[in-house]
Amino acid sequence: MTSTEPDLFEVVNPATEEVIETVAMAGPAETDAAIARARAAFDSWRRVAPADRARLLRAFAAAVDADRENLAQLEVANAGHTVGNARWEAGNARDVIEYYAAAPERLFGRQIPVAGGIDVTFQEPLGVVGIIVPWNFPMPIAAWGFAPALAAGNTVVLKPAELTPLTALRLAELALQAGIPEGVFQVLPGRGPVVGERFVTHPDVRKVVFTGSTRVGKAVAAGCAAQVKPVTLELGGKSANIVFADADLMKAAATAPYAVFDNAGQDCCARSRILVQESVFDEFMALLEPAVLGVRVGDPRDEKTEMGPLISAAQRERVASYVPEQVAVQGLVPEGRGFWFPPTVLAPVDQSSPAFTEEIFGPVVAVVPFRDEEDALRIANRTEYGLSGSIWTRDLGRALRVARGVEAGNLSVNSHSSVRYSTPFGGFKQSGLGRELGPDALNAFTETKNVFISTEE
Ligand code: NAD
Repeated sequence: MTSTEPDLFEVVNPATEEVIETVAMAGPAETDAAIARARAAFDSWRRVAPADRARLLRAFAAAVDADRENLAQLEVANAGHTVGNARWEAGNARDVIEYYAAAPERLFGRQIPVAGGIDVTFQEPLGVVGIIVPWNFPMPIAAWGFAPALAAGNTVVLKPAELTPLTALRLAELALQAGIPEGVFQVLPGRGPVVGERFVTHPDVRKVVFTGSTRVGKAVAAGCAAQVKPVTLELGGKSANIVFADADLMKAAATAPYAVFDNAGQDCCARSRILVQESVFDEFMALLEPAVLGVRVGDPRDEKTEMGPLISAAQRERVASYVPEQVAVQGLVPEGRGFWFPPTVLAPVDQSSPAFTEEIFGPVVAVVPFRDEEDALRIANRTEYGLSGSIWTRDLGRALRVARGVEAGNLSVNSHSSVRYSTPFGGFKQSGLGRELGPDALNAFTETKNVFISTEE
């Protein structure tokens, strides 16, 4: 390919394997031009009065709300997400924008008592923020970055994953329609080593938000270090779902499949290791089997479908490489075209095997027994990851002890919830750096400036 030929990427529907659109990938020159536009737009965007910036963000949220069904259908076609999930994701993008629309008018500094004058702090925007998004949750992950970044007065260049650019492109159109000025929020479809890497190396990009694999995240962090560029990382996971003997076993078993097979397991918070107290192991497995076989896998457009296909043929191959010939339970998948992989339970499983230690990012879960609280924590924490996890018990003291003991950023007790836009989200250890969402996310998109004003005559 010569440099004048456009780099075209065929976007494929993973449920049908049909090409649904061809998207031009931005090259180095286009990336630099977009960063220059974002840099120019920053000077005026940061000066937009807080109430006006808030109003524009509320208008953006309203535009997303009005387009929710269209955005959801785009995601069903582009990512194979079930329509129920895709509607939630579009609603989540709207909610995140609306939540941070309240921020410009609440971006408080402090007044600190000092001698000889007044000391005040300001939360200053950073400049251009580069956001790099993976393919597994294209809309929510984009919004978790761009909404607080824009609210704090930054401008944004955002690169969706190669495989899933369509909803991000639509969100950029909706921002313009809502009155967000040109250059303030730009979406650049492109390749990681081209556009993503330029966000890291370009000196006018003052912050990078990266969500994706731990491998690429480490390279992004190393690149940012060369310019002492702040970076937020949301990386992989291998989370534990810990079930104690005193738990509501029916509920724990009925919900466990959805905690890992949701989005076909392509979820960084997937509870892909189930740890069950040994005295109830057999009982739990007997309850888990019908729950797994009951997961409805099929056409993601069907409202009743609970699990769709994997994102690509390559991902299916990767997932299959972790699955031995003998499995404990395996569901069914539709015949014919589409990147299908059945819900799969591995038990017994060697705790040092890759299936138990590596992130599979597919609908595969491994179940192991544990003796007591200490043993459960030892197994749960024996991983380089630390993103999420669940604890099932009726003993409140134990729930809190174990929740405090698990080295992970997002835990739930008698539930599998990980993400709420109003609470902080992020990982311990190699699952990430920094936190997104919640009341403090603006700290990651501002610098604190201290100003002393003398009152002496
Ligand atoms: P990936 O790391 O391959 O790609 C993620 C993004 O980085 C893509 O947009 C890609 O184009 C870009 N990229 C690739 N090479 C790059 C480079 N050299 N420089 C800059 N950018 C580059 O990951 P993926 O396969 O798209 O996504 C799956 C991974 O994302 C999983 O490991 C999953 O756990 C993780 N993830 C984490 C979270 C979280 O919040 N912690 C959320 C979703 C996904």
